[in-house]
Amino acid sequence: LKIGTPKETFPGEARVAMTPDSAKQLQKLGYSCLIQSGAGAAAGFSDKAYEDAGVEVIKTAASLWKKSDIVTKVRQPDEKETRHLTKGKTLISFFNPGGNEAGLEAARAKGANVIAMEMVPRISRAQKMDALSSMANIAGYRAVIEAGNNFGRFFTGQITAAGKVPPAKVLVVGAGVAGLAAIGTATSLGAVTYAFDVRPEVAEQVESMGAEFVYLDFEEEQQDGAATGGYASVSSPEFREAQLAKFRQLAPEMDIVITTALIPNRPAPKLWLEDMIAAMKPGSVIVDLAAERGGNAEGTVADEKVVTANGVTIVGYTDFPSRMASQASTLYATNIRHMLTDLTPEKDGQVVHNMEDDVIRGATVTYQGEITFPPPPPKIQ
Ligand code: NAD
Repeated sequence: LKIGTPKETFPGEARVAMTPDSAKQLQKLGYSCLIQSGAGAAAGFSDKAYEDAGVEVIKTAASLWKKSDIVTKVRQPDEKETRHLTKGKTLISFFNPGGNEAGLEAARAKGANVIAMEMVPRISRAQKMDALSSMANIAGYRAVIEAGNNFGRFFTGQITAAGKVPPAKVLVVGAGVAGLAAIGTATSLGAVTYAFDVRPEVAEQVESMGAEFVYLDFEEEQQDGAATGGYASVSSPEFREAQLAKFRQLAPEMDIVITTALIPNRPAPKLWLEDMIAAMKPGSVIVDLAAERGGNAEGTVADEKVVTANGVTIVGYTDFPSRMASQASTLYATNIRHMLTDLTPEKDGQVVHNMEDDVIRGATVTYQGEITFPPPPPKIQ
């Protein structure tokens, strides 16, 4: 069968779902690979590099979609792309199935099989296909780089002939995948890093990355995230007040605040409030990785950088992985390649869409004319 990757159509999207390296691996699985001309350009992969890797370069998106049995993409298809779905075609892409009813219905009606990369179950066996984690890792790293770019001082402390420089103080709110990547990056640049999460079980991970876990003076335990599959749920009002009081105390000291706090299927909790921003020093920077879901900080504007009256920069970009398109494409294309490895047990270029396999089943959102989202709850192992 033929696997094809079109150029992304979302404005500004620089990633690509197939790289010359991933194409070589896909060919080892027995597939032929196609790429739309220019699809990799913004991520640093030329048509020539694909050709050298044995990939056929196709001029137009329409022709690419038509010729491909399997289409791999980054962003959920737009309306025009959805029209290219046909019976038996497989699409592997982020798809936003929870917020894309029209897309699901269109794919079902056309008989296309859709694998939504955000639905890959977060179990050990599927880590190699976990595109949410690989993109969150990049976002966390890039958030620190972006913060540094907007911060007029060093991260690391220095004693120089020209004077003593204190290290920057960085607070990371939310220590999931992106938060841990941000902690690792900030500490490796020499900052003194603090981190907070409602799930106390992450304290050890935070400390192993070289940061200090911020505990609350709160009688009850912080949340038991293990009860919710590792995800956070909404905090009690008392817990929230204790958390905000701690942040109020930290705000005047922190140079950089990186917020990543999310609760599944809810708007981002507001955690860094106006009075905390007002208490920060001029020149401080907030990078709000929750901007797409409304932001953790008050005053975050999605896709913008704003400077407050007291000189605090708030960065609300929502496209951090695309800002590191080469790295993001390499990791994403590898996630996709692993998904295809599992879909191709005989390595004969033929898809075996095994709906008995938990990972494949979990990620499949339409199959043979049916909507198969949401998947059944995972079996207890
Ligand atoms: P996420 O993006 O949903 O949330 C980011 C973090 O924000 C979480 O750690 C959450 O606890 C935290 N948070 C929510 N509300 C908060 C608040 N009010 N204050 C402070 N922090 C708050 O999370 P994620 O990065 O997708 O990771 C979620 C979980 O999944 C983690 O337990 C992670 O270890 C786990 N995970 C497992 C695998 C695997 O086993 N394959 C892969 C990836 C992630």
